[in-house]
Amino acid sequence: MSALTDTIAPAIDALKPYEPGRPIELVAAELGLDPAEVVKLASNENALGASPKVRAAIARAASECHRYPDGGALRLRERIAEFHGVSPKQVIVGNGSNEILEFVAHCFAGPGKSTVYSAHAFAIYRLLTAMFGARGIEVPMRQGLVHDLEAMLAAVDSETAVVFLCNPNNPTGTMVAPDAVEHLIAAIPEDVLLVIDEAYAELALAPMPPSVRWATERPNVLVCRTFSKAYGLAGLRVGYGIGSAELVQALQKPRQPFNVNLIAQEAAIAALDDQPFVEDARALCRTARDTLENGLRKLGLAFVPSAANFMLVDTGNSRETASRLETAGVIVRPMDGYRLPHYIRVTYGQPHENARFLDALADLLPPNAPQELTPA
Ligand SMILES: *Cc1c(COP(=O)(O)O)cnc(C)c1O
Repeated sequence: MSALTDTIAPAIDALKPYEPGRPIELVAAELGLDPAEVVKLASNENALGASPKVRAAIARAASECHRYPDGGALRLRERIAEFHGVSPKQVIVGNGSNEILEFVAHCFAGPGKSTVYSAHAFAIYRLLTAMFGARGIEVPMRQGLVHDLEAMLAAVDSETAVVFLCNPNNPTGTMVAPDAVEHLIAAIPEDVLLVIDEAYAELALAPMPPSVRWATERPNVLVCRTFSKAYGLAGLRVGYGIGSAELVQALQKPRQPFNVNLIAQEAAIAALDDQPFVEDARALCRTARDTLENGLRKLGLAFVPSAANFMLVDTGNSRETASRLETAGVIVRPMDGYRLPHYIRVTYGQPHENARFLDALADLLPPNAPQELTPA
């Protein structure tokens, strides 16, 4: 505390930083292991990496690094628009889709406003709401850790500016059915923005609603997508939003001119052009899910059925299990910060990585009584 830090706005000063998955290099150094021996299944990254075509595009773009990127990201926005059958005016790009969420908060959240989201939804909604001095209304989930859309709609009050709907939801992996989303859209007040965060849409193992179409038909619906998950570009930071031209124009206002860098723009264009890679990623997701579900059943551990590239596993304790797995060189995400203190979240990896996870987990279980992990 100093004279200077005392002047920090209370809403900012009170923030607790987002806790990301722990990096391989760091964990390896702590354990005295070779980084190649550490498996990271903690950040819902793509087990396949990025497509070779994308890596070639990145290498080509490297020679242009001394140039500023196209500030309006026109070619990328045109390519995204073409891919979805919408107009480039209906597309905004961000430094990750997290930045799109931040533009939403810039435009719509603030003191005297509220936002609505599930109690176990993506942590960034709560963080942004607090950062911009708005009031977060956290709605309990239904049985099975599924969004309760009726309760979320009922929670909308006269101050509500934004409803965040994450589908499939991170960290639970659960989905809401297309007709339920359609009902929510029909019922939500016109002056409330519905943000449908579809970070896992391309990997989804259940039918997705036609949200992009709804977003272009409705002035108060925004769909967010990202290149971080299905396309394997998490390290490049590029995502996008689709909505009405009027909404997108408003969201452009708080955007810095060069928010998506030159390499990321080229990589994202090449990524959209390589849809077979996405098919492969989805296929890997499906087999990994089956492997993990079967393995967990054998261990007698409960899990939350997931439609995305990760799942919650009920180990009875969160941090404890995560830190013991980490000691075995397997990084997963503890879920206590999401108020799910019984669960860890594991991202689907390559077959050998999933096997490492299951083996390390089995080693933690007491023999013959595989229900809950006992504290060390
Ligand atoms: C990963 C993720 C994002 C966005 O990630 P970016 O890397 O910022 O594009 C957004 N929403 C959810 C729910 C996510 O899991």
